Amino acid sequence: MEVSRVIESAAEMTARNAAKSAAVSTPRLVAIAIDAVADAALRAREAEAVTHELRCDACDEVIEGEAAGHGLYVWVRGDEVRREEPPLCACCATAIGITALQAWSIEEEEG
Ligand SMILES: [Zn+2]
Repeated sequence: MEVSRVIESAAEMTARNAAKSAAVSTPRLVAIAIDAVADAALRAREAEAVTHELRCDACDEVIEGEAAGHGLYVWVRGDEVRREEPPLCACCATAIGITALQAWSIEEEEG
């Protein structure tokens, strides 16, 4: 959800809550956000946390906590060398690491 839409909906909710409170004559405890912008910022941060969950680059599993390992992509565009180290889950990090070690030892044996 876009931040501007969150701010709009939060502002509408606050306005509605204020209208309800004014209509009711008996005092009662109502929990509302201090201001709509702060409420929207909190909601945006929660939405951002959900979308930025860590996923394994090989199998797309959600990674809890720290990544068990990282892959390595290196590519060249003109003179610029770019590298990326995508996160890997424990299973994929182990499988890719062992496969790389095997390929390396075969290469060394062949000379
Ligand atoms: Zn994986």
